[in-house]
Amino acid sequence: MRKVVKFGGSSMADAVQFKKVRDIVLADAKRNVVIVSAPGKRFSGDHKITDLLYLCHAHIKYGVSCDSIFSMIEERYLSICKDLGLSVDIASVLAQLREKMEAGISQDELVSRGECFCAMLMADFLGFDFIDASQWLYFNLDGSVNQERSYFALKTLAEGRRVVIPGFYGILPDGSIRTFSRGGSDITGALAAAALDAEVYENWTDVSGILMADPRIVENPEPIAHVTYDELRGLSYAGAQVLHEGTVSPVREKNIPLNIRNTNDPDHPGTLICERFDEETEQDPRFITGVAGRKNFSIVTVIKSGMSSEAGALRRILKVFDQHGATAEFVPSGIDSFSLVVAGDKLGGNLFAILGALQEAIAPDDIKVTSNISIITAVGRKMAFRPGTSGRIFAALGEHGINIRMISQGPEELSITVGVDDKDYSETIRVLYNSFVK
Ligand code: ASP
Repeated sequence: MRKVVKFGGSSMADAVQFKKVRDIVLADAKRNVVIVSAPGKRFSGDHKITDLLYLCHAHIKYGVSCDSIFSMIEERYLSICKDLGLSVDIASVLAQLREKMEAGISQDELVSRGECFCAMLMADFLGFDFIDASQWLYFNLDGSVNQERSYFALKTLAEGRRVVIPGFYGILPDGSIRTFSRGGSDITGALAAAALDAEVYENWTDVSGILMADPRIVENPEPIAHVTYDELRGLSYAGAQVLHEGTVSPVREKNIPLNIRNTNDPDHPGTLICERFDEETEQDPRFITGVAGRKNFSIVTVIKSGMSSEAGALRRILKVFDQHGATAEFVPSGIDSFSLVVAGDKLGGNLFAILGALQEAIAPDDIKVTSNISIITAVGRKMAFRPGTSGRIFAALGEHGINIRMISQGPEELSITVGVDDKDYSETIRVLYNSFVK
């Protein structure tokens, strides 16, 4: 069995980080498929190689010299090579790229070199084989990944080998390079793990797992030890910045656990994400897994006497919002009223058009619009079917004088969502965290 391990940019930032990566990989013989990002920041204020490459492309596009930026890139790779005594002739590789840039290179190809060169160096350092992403990660013309073809190709190529693969890009049917969106090496790792039916997909970063709340709001939040794929979806939907979108589905489809770990604290178990956990793991008494939220929603409440028994009323209301590109994220209902919770940026300048269309479609008695609302969700698989959970949440918020403007609980009882005024956003997150985690 293999463990597929992906290291993010901060883990590849310099020779010191390369050594940590090597120690981690060599500590477990099963860690024999390594995916890497391009070197990231070494310190705050430093530059990511990928950012510099994008910058180079922008300069070329506008006919401005990118020499000084390219020198910074060269310097980074050369110093990693020198500090580690590697045998890759990276100077020639960089010189060839420079020539290609003169001749004309696509943005995707240029920025993909960040991970490509990094993987070449890491393969040399580990004594593993380098497999280029363009040899197995096949995109369809529409930009989706051809999973079947890619999985087959990687399985064949990696058979019996210890390999390093660059993240972030693959190849289009016409042979040109295509990248994922920013941060997409996470997806490459997930696809490789799925292709090889890995025992686990380890995603090594610079934090000890997913935190239970935003550290800019809660002081020193604890990392989540265990989270299910459903809970993770709930947290990301609620606003937590967790993994690149598209990372989860390849591994989830194959029931492969995903483990988020910290390269700078390799003994920390990090966060383990699975479909479900056994009873022993579930002994942890905390019943909230995490809290996340977003600001700037509006609640549009449509009121009409007798509407709850009017056939098709909700459908017509939703259609009006859909037609204006304002998808409702929650639809709490009252007696003869429906409230639609819509992100402010989606409602945007359409509000008056929507109100006019609602008037025509429903002829409501009244429409109320409340703006500057934050939507905050407490996620926890252990909340399900536990009496008193919502009561405790309301009590905790009430004690702190926070007025709840909206409440929504899904039928699966995996999460409870409250709407509060934007001014209460941070305090609500803190109260929920302090009441249920500390
Ligand atoms: N290096 C790329 C980026 O900075 C991809 C990645 O790191 O996942 O977006």
